[in-house]
Amino acid sequence: MSGLESIDIWRVDLALRQPWRTALGAVTERPAILVRAVLDGAEGWGECAALPEPLYSPEYTAGALDVLVSHLVPRLLAAGVAGAAGVGAALAPVKGHHMAKCGLELAVLDAELRALGVPLAHHLASVCQAPAEAAAQVPAGMAIGVTTSTSDLVEAVGRWVAAGLRRVKLKIHPGWDAEPVAAVRAAFGTGLVVGADANGSYAAHPDPAAALAALDGAGLAFVEQPLADDDVVGHAALAARIATPVCLDESLTSVAATTTALSAGACSVVNVKAPRLGGYLEAVRVHDLCRARGVPVWCGGMLETGVGRAANVALAALPNFTIPGDVSGTGWLFPSDVVDEPITFDGAGNIAVPQRPGVGVTVNPAALAASTWHAGFAAPRRR
Ligand code: MG
Repeated sequence: MSGLESIDIWRVDLALRQPWRTALGAVTERPAILVRAVLDGAEGWGECAALPEPLYSPEYTAGALDVLVSHLVPRLLAAGVAGAAGVGAALAPVKGHHMAKCGLELAVLDAELRALGVPLAHHLASVCQAPAEAAAQVPAGMAIGVTTSTSDLVEAVGRWVAAGLRRVKLKIHPGWDAEPVAAVRAAFGTGLVVGADANGSYAAHPDPAAALAALDGAGLAFVEQPLADDDVVGHAALAARIATPVCLDESLTSVAATTTALSAGACSVVNVKAPRLGGYLEAVRVHDLCRARGVPVWCGGMLETGVGRAANVALAALPNFTIPGDVSGTGWLFPSDVVDEPITFDGAGNIAVPQRPGVGVTVNPAALAASTWHAGFAAPRRR
């Protein structure tokens, strides 16, 4: 049999070292959805990054499993795609569900590249609009959740700075903004790249511009997603009134949405997250759009396991990822990961880009054996 032969999906419930707190609430468990595709006899792995609750976007674990099983996997297997380049078109009739689509595309892409012996970073660089070369290493960055006090925050940042990290992103919300940001600046100086992520929490604030102008003197690399996902006009008005560059995350769900936001002046920095965009190939297209417009990008994260994390490192190796992203090791998040090759950063704060074929990680059979749910699907027989 040739082409896409089968898809398997596992839910693996990973323990978190500690709850992850943002303006959207606390994530206390991390059910991971792992996808295996077999293409022309080669195996590949992907991850659907949906979180347990639909608070970051409409997707969530149980819903993602349902749309995969009921709609996306049957369509993909029926389409008989020859490789990852055909996945987006095969799944396009299904609206939304970008994280689920991303997991499928990555699994097919990993299988394709493993058979070819090509690392994901090299492949993504090769499909860029303008010729590009993948970096051999990328700077690590860490998103720091909301802590119970400013001193706890400074202590948390200090641990990562001591470990070599050069960039932190602080989660903020109204009432937890200027003071914690100023405390981190006072403790670590201007040598540390600092960003702030509001996850839309200023949407209900009576005067977001006044609240966020209080951050103007902090020299932040960006303030991310201050307002609601669909508020392009509001973000443009806000960007004109504050000194900190506005970055968008939740709002940017496609190349088209990114084009609209940039043309409206709603942001001048872009968070590129493949799961939010429906796949790593769309993420490359957003990278290319921003590169052509001189807009810097950085690579966001979704508390991924080592599978999605390794793919994010490969994406971050593209040339316009000029701001360090939320790309770091998984050890801080999970006591045990699902892959045999954990992503780690060195004492200078750099992560080596995987050079093995495909995503470059091996899913541990013990992790799958501990899964709480599994389903397998074979392609329909063709004549
Ligand atoms: Mg964000």
